[in-house]
Amino acid sequence: MPEGPEIARAASDLAAVLANKRVLLIEFAFQQLKPHVDMITGSRIKSVRARSKAMLVEFDCGLTVYSHNQLYGRWAILAHGEASQVGLQVRMAIHVDEAVAVLYSASDIEVWPSANIGEQPYIRKLGLELLAAETTLNEVLAHIRQPKFQGRRVATLLLDQGFLAGIGNYLRSDILFAARIKPDARMKDLTVVQTNALAHHALAMTQQSFATNGITNDLKIAKKLRGRGMKFSQYRHWVFDRVGEPCHVCGTKITRLDLSGRAVFWCVGCQV
Ligand SMILES: [Zn+2]
Repeated sequence: MPEGPEIARAASDLAAVLANKRVLLIEFAFQQLKPHVDMITGSRIKSVRARSKAMLVEFDCGLTVYSHNQLYGRWAILAHGEASQVGLQVRMAIHVDEAVAVLYSASDIEVWPSANIGEQPYIRKLGLELLAAETTLNEVLAHIRQPKFQGRRVATLLLDQGFLAGIGNYLRSDILFAARIKPDARMKDLTVVQTNALAHHALAMTQQSFATNGITNDLKIAKKLRGRGMKFSQYRHWVFDRVGEPCHVCGTKITRLDLSGRAVFWCVGCQV
């Protein structure tokens, strides 16, 4: 499942094609959305941006389209007249002069007045957005220190989009590793050094993953491993999906732990 950095990258790719363009036509597969076609067609696209795992396309007619890809949704940019991918259902298509942006398979599409998009149920529950350019380390630190989080397990919080928005499973394992936090630790168990490290790595690693197409490992280590002929899947992470492989720092074999049905990968040598 894509995490915040992948959705933010998709938003950036879409924005490159759609931003400031006039909508020649918008098409919706769902009947309940069709009444918005006339208003959006002919308007200009103000912005395309990601909020955690949701995509927001804002039009200057005062409407915003919210979509969430869940497991199967996928955006594609097609040339005019290009056939859409066989076997995938087109759920929304935005036609501009240069291209057509198509959303396949997603079932979670809503149209909101732009002024009220903050009230959309998924958006309303989001915590601090790690991929927003204006988010600072001090804000992340102040946010995670709030008393309401202190009794909860760090590993559980990291998948809760109401805590820090944009983190998914691969970022969770690698943030815990980089901050040297055991997977079963609660917020209140952390030392000051660990709390600071958690804030730093949550922000820096999520932004690095966005900038590098998904590398959460230290970039120098990743470069060295790539130089030795390792594949992207082998060098991109600190610990995620590396069971039995040696830790990049201490050489201990990486271990897997299941928490509420989702795997956490960790190093018993480093995370003590
Ligand atoms: Zn280690």
